[in-house]
Amino acid sequence: MKKYLSILLICCLVLTAVPVLGTGDAAVAPKYVFMFIGDGMGNPQVTATQYYIGSLENPDAPMPTPEQLSFTDFSNLGMVTTYDATSFCPDSASTATSMASGEKTLSGVINYDVDKTKAFKPITEYAKEAGMEVGIITSVSLDHATPAAYYAKVESRKQYYDIAVQGLTNDTLDFFGGGGFLNPDGKSTNKDTGETTMQENLFDIAAANGWTFVNSNEEIRSLNAESDRVLAISPILQDSQSLTYEIDRVRMESEGADVLSLADFVTAGINVLDNDNGFFMMCEGGKIDWSCHANDAATSILETIAFSDAVQVAVDFAAEHPEETLIIVTADHETGGMTIGFATTAYDTHFAYLANQTISYTEFDKVISTLRDNGASFEDALVEIEKYYGLTTKEEQDLTLTEDELAKIQAAYELSMQNKDERVLGEKEEFLYGGYEPLSMAVSHIINNKAGLSYTSYSHTGLQIPVYATGVGSEVFGGLYDNTDIFFRTMQAMGLSQ
Ligand SMILES: [Zn+2]
Repeated sequence: MKKYLSILLICCLVLTAVPVLGTGDAAVAPKYVFMFIGDGMGNPQVTATQYYIGSLENPDAPMPTPEQLSFTDFSNLGMVTTYDATSFCPDSASTATSMASGEKTLSGVINYDVDKTKAFKPITEYAKEAGMEVGIITSVSLDHATPAAYYAKVESRKQYYDIAVQGLTNDTLDFFGGGGFLNPDGKSTNKDTGETTMQENLFDIAAANGWTFVNSNEEIRSLNAESDRVLAISPILQDSQSLTYEIDRVRMESEGADVLSLADFVTAGINVLDNDNGFFMMCEGGKIDWSCHANDAATSILETIAFSDAVQVAVDFAAEHPEETLIIVTADHETGGMTIGFATTAYDTHFAYLANQTISYTEFDKVISTLRDNGASFEDALVEIEKYYGLTTKEEQDLTLTEDELAKIQAAYELSMQNKDERVLGEKEEFLYGGYEPLSMAVSHIINNKAGLSYTSYSHTGLQIPVYATGVGSEVFGGLYDNTDIFFRTMQAMGLSQ
């Protein structure tokens, strides 16, 4: 008799343990699910940001003291491989497709197989069918690769107009917020004839499909659950219809401007989406990637802080809904091959040096074009470099330029003072500047290296990526697995496994 009872007891224990062992759906499904993707945010980017904040907040600490970000202390931590069907160094379209739909595809393809014949079904459609509301937020344009994988299916990520039309006309989305649209009039030019054609304007399509379009800080801050389907675009947009880089937003706010952040859009999204059936929200910090493509470490660190602030809004929401919320934070791939440690600084690092930089490479490019238009001297350029980066010719300063660094800046200055179409750029320049504005690149590389950081590439890398998860069902995100499994584990945690 005793023997049967103990066997029965073991069976019961096994049955309740099944979800944790990854074969069945979670016993309790989260009502609210947040999927945060830091585009290009590998482990180096997260670590550098923790060390940067730690250096600023603990300047007199006897030893290096990193600080936590809003997600680095989440209870569950995993690691994923990110390769796609094209390369170990994937792109954002294929990796987002893998996370959103659980499938591998070619770089540049969104929710189609490698033959571009079979369309994939993203998790947002399953969430919608389960009665949840769905929101997509990004700091880049709404039709960019990562957000697109959560609502569209196209053979090429460059089909910006088609992508946006799908987002506005299919019934998956209820909140669509952040940047703007890259091709609102569906403009296309026939390569042979050169003839340009336009299509129906996206904002007309939005209105015809029941979207409420809001485009001011006041309107976006006053959104609520009565607002129905909302298309919310920041009134201030920077490069390629994106939100302002955090490093520039902070500088602009210190000069009195009021510029919306990614966190503001998460707050607006929650206000619109909250309902009895819950919601699924994907929020992308898209410009960590852009700043790392441009090897601009300080800008990427501030972008990671802005991303962490956006996650903090969800963490605060979860504190009010502890038994109902799941938060997942990850990235699609690493960008730039960022590394902590550099040849000339050896075992030393000086993260606080980066706080002297108050401008992104994109905005500094504008400073350079003004210098060029004014035929400015090298000395004039050095004044701007000291103003925005702290790099100086004054002796015995933390950021005093060496002879070698000055020579590098002078060479880049001379190239940058030429109009783009007059510059002769060879392999050496391609390596030094990666196709970006030479003077911006030279200055970024020098302040990175003085801080003890560096980059190996201007493209994506093949590094494995961390996954941070907390809340209901988050225990399924531990371990080492492939990015396609993020889809299956999220479905499992949400009780939607097919
Ligand atoms: Zn990228």
